[in-house]
Amino acid sequence: MGGPGPDTVRDMRALITGIAGQDGSYLAGQLAMAGYEVYGMLRGQRHPKAEWLQELVPELHLVQGDLLDQSSLINVLKETEPQVIFNLGALTYVGMSWQQPALMTEVTGLGVLRLLEAIRMINPDIRLVHASSSEQFGSSAPPQDETTRFWPRSPYGVAKLMAHHTVVNYRESYGMFASTAIMFNHTSPRRGLEFVERKITNTVAWIHAGRHTQLRLGNLDSYRDWGWAPDYVKGLRLIAEHSDPDDFVLATGEMHSVRELVQKVFDWHKLPVEQFLVHDPALERPADVEALCGNYGKAERLLGWQPTLRFEQIVEELTVHDWQVLA
Ligand code: GDP
Repeated sequence: MGGPGPDTVRDMRALITGIAGQDGSYLAGQLAMAGYEVYGMLRGQRHPKAEWLQELVPELHLVQGDLLDQSSLINVLKETEPQVIFNLGALTYVGMSWQQPALMTEVTGLGVLRLLEAIRMINPDIRLVHASSSEQFGSSAPPQDETTRFWPRSPYGVAKLMAHHTVVNYRESYGMFASTAIMFNHTSPRRGLEFVERKITNTVAWIHAGRHTQLRLGNLDSYRDWGWAPDYVKGLRLIAEHSDPDDFVLATGEMHSVRELVQKVFDWHKLPVEQFLVHDPALERPADVEALCGNYGKAERLLGWQPTLRFEQIVEELTVHDWQVLA
């Protein structure tokens, strides 16, 4: 199977589901820069992020569709005629997945099945790159790679695993170009404040500014492999342009605890952590993932992909950003 090289990219049309999430705008920007015509799928008529997206990536075309609605996906594929689809559409917050497990499964799990069926019906030659998640590994001990046993610990992880297996199954059943990027936690100033690293950098900035008195957190002893979102989005593009469909871990290979992250941010602000940090058992999850640390050797070997930023720089970037926004 020949991959689309740099010369053919100019005529390529890409569709991104989940365009309003952290990765959507970075990916749209990178694809537009590379010469792709880029479409982004949004839910609802007046999406609150539509204007923001359009300002960030003026070349982006926004279309309406919903992973819950099969016919909307068929319509979007007919309308945009993409050669490549990046499926970033999902409910992505693990914490809420216990509150709305069925909705989580409908969107995050079944959504990709609907998308694959739409591709199969409209044009089975479309390439799909699906965003899988390190949450699928759950309780499997680090380091995790493409061969590690999946053992999800939340309704989110289970839904993501269903989506992952469905992509692999369509690749094997129908010979479709359907790939996955098993993405470990990745962040940026565009990351939602509900995720722990942004919650920490944002709240500590507010404490420093005298507008907050506490940082309330749940489990401080989980370990994560935090990467830089623009790096991961580049990985998605490399996977789409690779000669063959496959599964690739995108990670940094470094693991740090939530506790360590909190300490670093307080240190940067020169504030005493013990004065402001409150452990709140209500923020602990029914089950948590203890430790994630990815081995990205396959992506490096086959795609030439490497992360450019790691924990130290990432924490610094976020801390400085969230402080500058306030100061
Ligand atoms: P996840 O790895 O996709 O679940 O990303 P999160 O940023 O939501 O959570 C990372 C880790 O931080 C998990 O082990 C959470 O249990 C832990 N954590 C501790 N306190 C909090 C909190 O207040 N909010 C969030 N989101 N996570 C927390």
